[in-house]
Amino acid sequence: MSRFWSHLVSTLDPYVPGEQPRIQNLIKLNTNEHPYGPSPKVIAAIAQASDASLRLYPDPTSLALRQAIAQRESLDAEQVFVGNGSDEVLAHAFQALLKQERPLLFPDITYSFYPVYCGLYQIAHRTIALDAALAIRPEDYLHGDAGGIIFPNPNAPTGRGLALDAVERVVAGNPDVVVVIDEAYVDFGGQSATLLIDRYPNLLVVQTMSKSRSLAGLRVGFAMGHPDLIQGLDRVKNSFNSYPLDRLAQAGGVAAIEDEAYFQQTRHAVMQTRDGLVEGLGALGFDVLPSLANFVFASHPRRPAEEIAAALRERGVIVRHFRHPRISNYLRITVGTDQQCGQLVAACAEILA
Ligand SMILES: *Cc1c(COP(=O)(O)O)cnc(C)c1O
Repeated sequence: MSRFWSHLVSTLDPYVPGEQPRIQNLIKLNTNEHPYGPSPKVIAAIAQASDASLRLYPDPTSLALRQAIAQRESLDAEQVFVGNGSDEVLAHAFQALLKQERPLLFPDITYSFYPVYCGLYQIAHRTIALDAALAIRPEDYLHGDAGGIIFPNPNAPTGRGLALDAVERVVAGNPDVVVVIDEAYVDFGGQSATLLIDRYPNLLVVQTMSKSRSLAGLRVGFAMGHPDLIQGLDRVKNSFNSYPLDRLAQAGGVAAIEDEAYFQQTRHAVMQTRDGLVEGLGALGFDVLPSLANFVFASHPRRPAEEIAAALRERGVIVRHFRHPRISNYLRITVGTDQQCGQLVAACAEILA
């Protein structure tokens, strides 16, 4: 608290990101980073862009990157917005599209940044409880009283996914408000709502290069939707920061989109490791929610999750634990390499013995 803070700043309850430990050699399974590096072509493109042209401002419209994304998704560049990580894209969507008179709806258990943006932008909101199996029920979002709707698909931190027809029911059932689908994890087995964009002008699909393209450190996120929605985001972006993506991020982002083979290979490797991780945890008695993400959400009937997390840390493995009462007995475990997941399962076996 400081007398120099604005009133708004004194009311904020900011997001707390997962720990980035300074200790070396920890097995870091707490922030859903990709276990393999980005495409070598991304590294090469960034190296090539690292020259005297850095004295010049980057393209404020990130046109080459938007065109690359548009081409891959069979969209036009006017249907694509890019930002400094999808967190920034989401923040702009909250301010440009989801701040309405009626409340914004999102699940009670979901990405914990959503209520933070509501605080920052003073957005009325209401949470909708997940069902007993921690799944989103589409019919809960069809009462016609929403000012906007946002949820991740697959949801975080549960990893559960909704089929495309269920997402479409929510979008079609709320034609007068914007529905944002946050697809941070969709490339690990989910169904993307991008296929619906040309039919629903109220749909905004947000994706990121942080997870499935192994570029959390580059900060590239994007949104796809009707040009009117994209223009709304642009108005906020151009009232905030003209150059959210630097030259290196734009060059690396284009190369990441263009290396489809590497993307396919590495996302499938993560999905395969996930199957083994689910099996290993299941054999130790963990209940593991069905995951379509690069993490699993697991609880053990005999040991509190918080205790297991602390014991794992003593053994050099970090995972994420949330204090929210409905999920306080779950651990969110990022899918690492086969070796990292093997070490995690071995450590759990030791802890539970
Ligand atoms: C990781 C994550 C994001 C944000 O990722 P960026 O690194 O900012 O692109 C957005 N939504 C969800 C649900 C996430 O898990």
